[in-house]
Amino acid sequence: MNETYSDQFVKSLKKFASIKKRAVNKIDKIIQNPLTGEPLKYDLRGLYSAPLAKNFLIIYSYCKICRKKGDDKILRCSDCTDMINETVRFFDVGPHDKAYSRGSGIPT
Ligand SMILES: [Zn+2]
Repeated sequence: MNETYSDQFVKSLKKFASIKKRAVNKIDKIIQNPLTGEPLKYDLRGLYSAPLAKNFLIIYSYCKICRKKGDDKILRCSDCTDMINETVRFFDVGPHDKAYSRGSGIPT
């Protein structure tokens, strides 16, 4: 499995140091089974969220699925075509509301 991490993701992980360990564990699980998360809708269609401690979330995409569904066009996952199918892309991690509303880790 190939993985990418957005700048936003790395930044958030530093900021929320207390959940870093859990996040790393979760990242492992997601890489082993990218369909473990919950598919998001509307603006965030094509992305998945996986819950962490409390109401923290990891926001990611799985290129194999995102292409199959044609979500890559909606996703603004503009460099998607450069990725192999088996790629998990981590966009953001943070408290529930922020991770959803911001979506700033998503390339535009
Ligand atoms: Zn993609």
